[in-house]
Amino acid sequence: MSADSPLEHLYLHFPFCSGRCGYCAFTSGPPTSDPINYIHALVAERDARQLTLAPLKSLYCGGGTPGLIGSEGFYALKHSGLFTFSANYEWTVELHPATVTPALMQTLADCGVTRISIGVQSFNDDVLRQCNRRHTAQQALEAIRTARAFIPDTGIDLIAGLPGVNDTLWQATLDQCFALDLPHVSIYALSIDEGSIWAREGRTPPNGDAVCDAIAEAAERLAVAGLARYETSNYARSGYRCQHNLNTWHGGDYVGLGKGAASRIGLTRRASNGTEETLSTLEDALERALTQLRLDEGFNLTQCLSHYPMLAPYAAAWEKLLASYRENHLLSAINAPTLRGYEVLDAMERTLLEATL
Ligand code: SF4
Repeated sequence: MSADSPLEHLYLHFPFCSGRCGYCAFTSGPPTSDPINYIHALVAERDARQLTLAPLKSLYCGGGTPGLIGSEGFYALKHSGLFTFSANYEWTVELHPATVTPALMQTLADCGVTRISIGVQSFNDDVLRQCNRRHTAQQALEAIRTARAFIPDTGIDLIAGLPGVNDTLWQATLDQCFALDLPHVSIYALSIDEGSIWAREGRTPPNGDAVCDAIAEAAERLAVAGLARYETSNYARSGYRCQHNLNTWHGGDYVGLGKGAASRIGLTRRASNGTEETLSTLEDALERALTQLRLDEGFNLTQCLSHYPMLAPYAAAWEKLLASYRENHLLSAINAPTLRGYEVLDAMERTLLEATL
């Protein structure tokens, strides 16, 4: 990828939440009373940054809670002139269960949204209350049913390692998830963000081994149900992988607009707080190449070198390391992480990185 690549993947951040989940320190504040003004601000940001967007292959509306801009906000977004789509585009909207209504879903379907991701996190009311999620398990189930009636490509997020979740509760959450027969599920390990309420209370992350076991259990059951683990935290039926995120993991450019959105354009990396840095071509290649190790497609060193020839001096060292990971059953024959490999993916990436220093 280069700075000349057309910008075809756009992320829009909606920094609004009706409260604060215990573990979260994302950039967000109270719901806006003027969603149209926020849409205008996104257009103004695009213009001020002199970004020229090609017809989009993917648009991802994340948060915060994008649903809080309501039907008025989504119609304004659709007609803002901020973007156009290419054929076969993907438009994902993240939704909090409490914001899902038939009226909003009708709007999203009318606007051309193709994919919904609902943050469920747990199907247990006590756990949801402890996390201050501001919805019940029943609301989540109703939200999923409503969303799917309008946009069938609806998936959910769950979190492993939430407080109070023992093996029985985790199994119950997975049972509920399987009963829904969803096309896409994301399962994240709980992380307690710096600056979150729980971090300020001095809470520590859960036992790493127990979380790894919970995720391994979920991965095995999801595979049996036909949802392949295609990335560290993501599982999908055939044809339902998130194209927006795949572009990033394939090392592609993406533009983020909105308070709290990151971008990656050519050698420029823009953090969610708006600070920018220019990477060297080697740093850029390393970052883009190593994200591909997360995917079930496997890490093809020859292909990687043809995209990033500046990595050639490290090819022998990398192949030696990859071979040792394969021997230790951390990578498959095509260099895709195994179940155990996913548990030590960060360490594998770090070692490959160190081989270039
Ligand atoms: S986890 Fe999501 S809904 Fe909860 S505070 Fe963070 S951004 Fe808002």
